[in-house]
This record gives sequence, C-alpha cells and structure tokens, in this order.
Amino acid sequence: MSETELAAPPEVLGDVPTAGPQGETPLRTPMVSPLGRARIPEPLALVVFGATGDLMRRKLMPALWRLKQEGMLPDDFAIVGNAREATDDADFRERMRGALAEFAKEPDAAEWEAFSHRLRFVGGSTDDPSTFVQLAKVLGEVDKECGTRGNRLFYLALPPSVVAQTAEGLGRAGLVCHPEDRCYTRIIVEKPFGRDLDSAKALNASLLKVFAEPQIFRIDHYLGKETLQNLLVFRFANTIWEPLWQRNYVDHVQITVSETVGVESRAGYYDRSGALRDMIQSHLLQILTLVAMEPPASYDADSIRNEKVKVLQAIPLLQGEDIDRYAVRGQYAASEESSASEKDGEKGASMPAYRDEKDVPEGSRTETFAALRLLVDNWRWAGVPFYLRTGKRLPAKQSEVVIRFRPAPHPVRDQVQDDTPAPNALVLHIQPDEGISLFFEAKVPGIRGPLRPVSMDFKYTSAFEGAESPEAYQRLLLDAMLGDATLFARRDEVEAAWTLITPILQAWEAGGEPDPYPANSWGPECATELLAREGRSWHEPTG
Ligand code: NDP
Repeated sequence: MSETELAAPPEVLGDVPTAGPQGETPLRTPMVSPLGRARIPEPLALVVFGATGDLMRRKLMPALWRLKQEGMLPDDFAIVGNAREATDDADFRERMRGALAEFAKEPDAAEWEAFSHRLRFVGGSTDDPSTFVQLAKVLGEVDKECGTRGNRLFYLALPPSVVAQTAEGLGRAGLVCHPEDRCYTRIIVEKPFGRDLDSAKALNASLLKVFAEPQIFRIDHYLGKETLQNLLVFRFANTIWEPLWQRNYVDHVQITVSETVGVESRAGYYDRSGALRDMIQSHLLQILTLVAMEPPASYDADSIRNEKVKVLQAIPLLQGEDIDRYAVRGQYAASEESSASEKDGEKGASMPAYRDEKDVPEGSRTETFAALRLLVDNWRWAGVPFYLRTGKRLPAKQSEVVIRFRPAPHPVRDQVQDDTPAPNALVLHIQPDEGISLFFEAKVPGIRGPLRPVSMDFKYTSAFEGAESPEAYQRLLLDAMLGDATLFARRDEVEAAWTLITPILQAWEAGGEPDPYPANSWGPECATELLAREGRSWHEPTG
C-alpha cells in the first residue's frame, strides 16, 4: 500500500514541488524526515492501551494533536483508548482535552469538537478476554463511522509486566491482520524492553507468536530526536568527515547523557532499574551505533539497522576483571549546594542523597551513575575506546558526543612558544542546544603568541531560524503509522544490546556498591580514573 506523498521543499527532497495541485502554496506544512519523504499515512485506528496514563497525557496526545494540526494525520482516523478504569467516551474525550490544555495548549473549541468524535474508549483489563471482544466490536464501529478500513496500530503504553499478555490477547481475539491481508496491523512496544537478555528474548518470543517482525515497532523515544537523525546526515551527506572517521585519526569517543534531576517521583521504577539498564542499554548504545556504523548500502530501515547491529556485535563483552576495570558505577550523595535544575523546584534547597529520596529502599545499591569503556573491534575502530557516561544529579542536563582526534604528531615550536597543541575535537550537541562544534588550535595574535583552542559552532536554532523540530513522539508515531521502522529497534538489535549489558548487571547485582558522588558533581572519582589511567579526561560539557 502506498501512502499519499506530500509536497515538500525541493532543497530537502530534490524533486518534489512545493506547490499544491493547482500551483498554489501547499495546504500543509510537511514534516520531512531526512531519511525519507513527507507522507500522510493510510486511514487507520490507533488503539492506545494505557490511555489514562502519564505517557498518553504528557506525550502521545500532544504529539497526535500536533500531527493533526500539521495535516499529517489521514482524514479517516480514530483513536481508541483502553485502561482498566471504567470510564466512557465522553469522559475520555474530556481527559484528553485536559491533557492538551496541560501539556500542549488549550485546543480551539470548534476544532476539538470536530476531532473528539474520533476518540472512543474501551474499559477493561488486558488479562480479561472480554476486553478484546469489546475492543473488536468498537473497532468494527469505528471502521464504519470513521472509514479506518481495518488498519490498526496498537500502542502498548502499559506497565512492562502486562505487555506480553496484551499482545497474546490481541492474537487470540483475531485482531491481528496477516501481512498479506488488505489491511495492516502494527504494534508499538514501549521501553523498557526487558530487564536483561533472558527477559528481552522471552518478550520477543511472545510478540513473535502473534506478530511478524516487520509489524513490531520497539520504541526508544531518543531515536526520534532531530539531532540523532541528523547524525546520519552529518556523517553520510558530507564527504569531509568520512576519511577522518576512523582509528588513524580518532583517539577516542565520549558519549555523555547527563541529567540534573534526581530520581523525582520515579523511585518505584528507577530503583529496580538503575542507570545502566535505564540509559546505557538503550539511549547511549543507540548513539554509539550511529556514531560507529558503516555507511549503509541504502537508507531503508533494514539496511540501517543491519549496520547498527554489526556495531553492537563488534563490541567485545566485558567479563570478569574487565568489568571492575572498565565499568564503574556511582550513587548520588547529599550536597549542601542547591540543585542545578530549574525544573525540580528545589533551587535554593540542599539536595538529598539518593538513599534519602522518597520511596527509595533503605541501603539501596542502585546506581544513579554509570560509565563504561567499550571497544568496537572492527577494521575502522580497532583500539579506539568509546567512553560512555550517564547519571542523575550531575551539574548540567546535556547529551553530547565528543570525537577526540589524535594529537598533532609534532609540536609547533619554531613559530610560537613552547606549546603542545591540544587535540582537535568535534562535539555533537544532542540536547539541549542542538548543534555541532569543531575545536581546533589557533595562535593568539602577537609575536610568539601562545596556542589556544578556538571553536567553529553550528546551532540548529540560528541556522534554521523559525524552523521547529518535531517532538520525538510526533516523528515516531508518524513513522509507525507509515510503517517506517528505521527509528525503531529490531529484535536482534535489542538482544545484542542486552548481550553487552547483562554480564555487567549480573556482576553488579552479585556484590559491591556504587561509589558515592556529591550531587551536582560529575560523578564518582572512579569515573575520572577510568579515563585518567589511559592519559585522558572527560570533556567538560559546554552548555
Ligand atoms: P502509567 O502508570 O502512568 O500508566 C499506565 C497505564 O496502563 C494506565 O492507563 C493504566 O490504567 C493502564 N494499565 C495498567 N495495567 C493495565 C491492564 N492490565 N490492562 C489495561 N490497562 C492497564 O505509566 P506511563 O504512562 O508512565 O508508562 C507507560 C509505559 O510507557 C511504561 O512501559 C513506561 O516505562 C513507558 N514510558 C513512559 C514514559 C513517560 O514519560 N511516562 C517515557 C518512556 C517510556 P488503569 O490502572 O486504569 O488500568
């Protein structure tokens, strides 16, 4: 089935006119993926399990509303919500309007009135077969009233413990089309995808009993971020980087994802997860694969994901003593300083230790900071360390990749003072201020002036003034509706990531404690040591 292609700027798509059919300006502002064309999905019903939850209210409903306003939803569209709570269509519609008012902006009354009729609700637990019987009935009605033609996208915004049973319930109720049918069925499964390799494999097996792999969309909202997609464009649409992007020129790579907030109200989830599981297994390894992958033969989902999987498979497992040496963990301790976060409303107050936060069990050994040194053992990267770190209660909220190049082979002594040039660095800022900085050496003006690092900076906000990046969920929902799985994890990708992380999780669970670090610092001393003993240091994020 082919989706309707929209007009999009020729500078992005090359050959598509900007004008509408009659030559006037386009009716819609297309959201153009750097990896594909702007398209409108086929008619469909989006079924959200967990429709009264935080994710639906805060992220999914605002993203859907924005897609609707940008003309990216098909005219024949419906949303069917489910949760155990007994409620009805009218109450569900009112809650969703409230969610928009709270997390996006109050919708225009007439616009909302016209759209809200497309929202339905089916109450009941996903462990109860009658829920699916009722759902099938409502979907039949929706097909007639909204013209959704039997196409279904199931979004499982549910606690991980009920994901497998929900997929199986859909299968038993006959709600899943086969790939050769005229209609389509897809399923989006939220992060976390398993807790370790065995549980991820079990979850994959459950899903695959009901759905074929191309129907399964495992979401990691990080991949919906504009800069991560731009990383592919940056690497593969520019010729100047590729010759340098390898072991002969790169000394090492650093990937930092830091948060200023503490555990907030999520201790119930976080204490059973920790930084390694919550962040490194998914977000940081995803970033690593995009930095290290080979250019794909084409830009379809499987070609890109094939290259990403190869990177994960080329990383030697940390085992035994290597875990102590190359994997470090920390937990934030109290600090008298006030929080660096504007958001957490604690400005001016001292910051409590993780163990003193609400709902954190006494003596918890959960790490709130983790850092790893990994190698990618292939022709391009042999011997180049990739250092990954993430943590809570760090001094800045920042995600960035630093490509540190090898130092110049010979000092520049005859023209300037006795200076050793600092190595060049390329910094890819993923958030908050998306952009790219190249650091290089320059001579301070004057006779025999010393060397100083200077930078060339590119910022998305100033280069594309007025252009708004779509929210990650907006992009990802649209891609799933279109059947484009490029930004979703494939089965082997998820399992390869867990294969790397599980031995470290097991070693950490078996014994030892995370090293304490004061809140608002860059983590425990052992993280500094991880680089220092190899003569390197962490790049101080540039804010
Ligand atoms: P919430 O706890 O806020 O919501 C869970 C939803 O699931 C509720 O609507 C709940 O309603 C429903 N539910 C629970 N059990 C059942 C059941 N057996 N049958 C039917 N409905 C059920 O969770 P979140 O919305 O925060 O998260 C949902 C998923 O998304 C989780 O896997 C989470 O890890 C993931 N996620 C969330 C993010 C976020 O920002 N919130 C970000 C990234 C991932 P009721 O109790 O009435 O049944």
